[in-house]
Amino acid sequence: MCPPDFFGVYYVINPWMAGNEGRARAEQAAAQWRALRDQLDSRATAEILPPAENLPDLVFTANAGLVVGRKVILSRFRFAQRRDEEQLDRAWFVGHRYEVIELPPGIFFEGAGDALLDRATERLWMGYGFRTTLEAAEFISHELNIKVIPLRLVDERFYHLDTCFAPLSGGYFIYFPNAFDERALRAIEELIPQERRFAVSERDALDFACNCVDTGRVLILNNCSVDLERQLNAWGFEVARTPLGEFMLAGGAAKCLCLRLDEPAPKEKAHAADGFARRVVALEGHLLDTGLLARTMDRITENGGAFETLELRAGLRREDKSFARIAVSAPSQAALEPILAELIDLGGRLEETGGNPAALAPVEQEGVAPEEFYSTTIYPTDVLVGSEWIRAANQRMDGVIVVENSAEAASARVVLMRDLERGQKVVVGVEGIRIAAKTEPLSQDGEFKFMSSEISSERRVETAVETIAWEMNQIRERGGKIVLVAGPVAVHTGGIPYLCELARQGYLQAVLAGNALAVHDIERALYGTSLGVDLQRGITVQGGHRNHLKAINTIRRCGSIAEAVRSGVLKSGFMRELILHGIPFSLAGSIRDDGPLPETQMDLIKAQAEYARLARGADMILMLSSMLHSIGVGNMTPSGVKIVCVDINPAVATKLADRGSVESRAVVTDVGLFLNLLVRKIGERKSEVAAG
Ligand code: NAD
Repeated sequence: MCPPDFFGVYYVINPWMAGNEGRARAEQAAAQWRALRDQLDSRATAEILPPAENLPDLVFTANAGLVVGRKVILSRFRFAQRRDEEQLDRAWFVGHRYEVIELPPGIFFEGAGDALLDRATERLWMGYGFRTTLEAAEFISHELNIKVIPLRLVDERFYHLDTCFAPLSGGYFIYFPNAFDERALRAIEELIPQERRFAVSERDALDFACNCVDTGRVLILNNCSVDLERQLNAWGFEVARTPLGEFMLAGGAAKCLCLRLDEPAPKEKAHAADGFARRVVALEGHLLDTGLLARTMDRITENGGAFETLELRAGLRREDKSFARIAVSAPSQAALEPILAELIDLGGRLEETGGNPAALAPVEQEGVAPEEFYSTTIYPTDVLVGSEWIRAANQRMDGVIVVENSAEAASARVVLMRDLERGQKVVVGVEGIRIAAKTEPLSQDGEFKFMSSEISSERRVETAVETIAWEMNQIRERGGKIVLVAGPVAVHTGGIPYLCELARQGYLQAVLAGNALAVHDIERALYGTSLGVDLQRGITVQGGHRNHLKAINTIRRCGSIAEAVRSGVLKSGFMRELILHGIPFSLAGSIRDDGPLPETQMDLIKAQAEYARLARGADMILMLSSMLHSIGVGNMTPSGVKIVCVDINPAVATKLADRGSVESRAVVTDVGLFLNLLVRKIGERKSEVAAG
């Protein structure tokens, strides 16, 4: 222990300290510390670390290091304010003939504040996330030859493990669940039998009940509720309360004020230090201006990993790319793989580790992938088979990669899980996977937004549409393929005449939509209304709410849309143009469909296959005001296809366009206005828009 002669709150390095600078009272602190020591004196022998001026937190000796047997892993403090404590701690341990182990550079570790030995098994529980870095867990595991369970802390108020978790004698535990991330909680629940752990309330956690000194049968702590005391009594513990309010102003209580020196050394060779996994990921592109680097780092930590930036070259001009190499580590290979998969999704490239080929596992049940399957992104993907990198065919998102080895050559292709056949070999894990194309995150220039508050914004939409029209003209001239995906809003907002014009002029090579687009287009053609609203006058027509059902009924009587056109029942509208111009379309069903129309494919697996067939080979996909169908098509489209997303909701438009590639554009505007403008721009030479 270290007497609080120089204790006080003089800086803020945790939320407890905020607003409490200068508020700790020296006399009260001294009395509280004395009372704690009195409690301990009858149960333990105290060694004293001399206090030092300007080191107010030296009183919290738990943070000096982790003592196991005669070895001590010396702490390295996260915050500069506490770093001068390290030399005093070191001197004390050396003076007392401990073997002092120093951490490698770049690793933070705050001693027994974040490293707690299990009292029943040879296991070390370690907190990380705020003060201690995950790498410390790996280092200590090797150094002490002990099994370490890293637990990520997520509530800043409980910044050290000993503020929210206490392994007690006899293998009992108290802990505050909300202080941990999901994975950590799962580890706690799996490793500690239910009858030996107790989740304390937030009140108890904030009273520092978990920050207790376990002297065997007696637990010395600041305070705890009657409920918690009852539980502790039932386990055979007695509670000794000793108020430590002055120290709590700095974020510490009983356990923080003591460092236990009699922890037994683990038995030789009792445990293998294993589990930790690490991999280097490289990123290139507009990492800084688009926030991609920050997102990458967030993904790593949110998923319980840790990182070290090995190299960072910042692009200095707007058009320059940046480059980063980041070492990612996680408590286990199983924890690392989902993190790597997310980073690959963000455009990260895994650095090769001695060229390990992709791991393959056989399909044992039709339509079911082996556990740990690698799931694909929209980017071209190479697989290392033997010593050869092979590009997977049929690239799309959310598929798995099947590798086939014939006598002459190996091949790889992306397959949907449901299409897997027994015996096929599927890539598992992320080893031997390389995303070949360098991805370009969405640049500011690729994103066009309509913001009503800005005078210039209408002009920006116009510029965006001009570019899109120009690209569509280019594609049409070279005989390329433009695919339209559209929702019924395109009808309600008056877009049909313009869609018809696009169909007539050869700008559409396939149309993917739901039941509603066709129903409302046909309702408009037959009755002049859309969902019962007169499209010319904008008023509700009496009894008009039945019109869309009458429209469906009429087509059902004809047998198909094509037959309704042929027999002259359907005399205008977009669906008619598609049929007259032989433009293939697919209507995919949904749970909310009325009717449906005879062409609507209610078998969703078949509908997905039809969509995929029609979308294949597209040069551009126009996604107009349908979240459902746009996402569906986005998932089956590899990178490299120009995608234009038009939606009134900026979140939807940006999300759809955010494929990490420059080919995508988000236009935030009304779809009717967009179509009007588009057709005007396309037909500068031929500006008259014929009525649908
Ligand atoms: P959705 O919610 O997936 O997408 C609608 C999108 O349009 C939203 O993102 C919204 O922000 C956007 N939007 C709204 N007003 C806009 C405007 N003025 N300009 C631009 N964007 C605008 O819904 P969905 O695709 O319309 O429908 C989902 C499914 O339900 C489809 O399969 C559809 O066929 C079906 N549906 C069927 C019927 C029917 O059978 N009667 C009726 C409606 C929808």
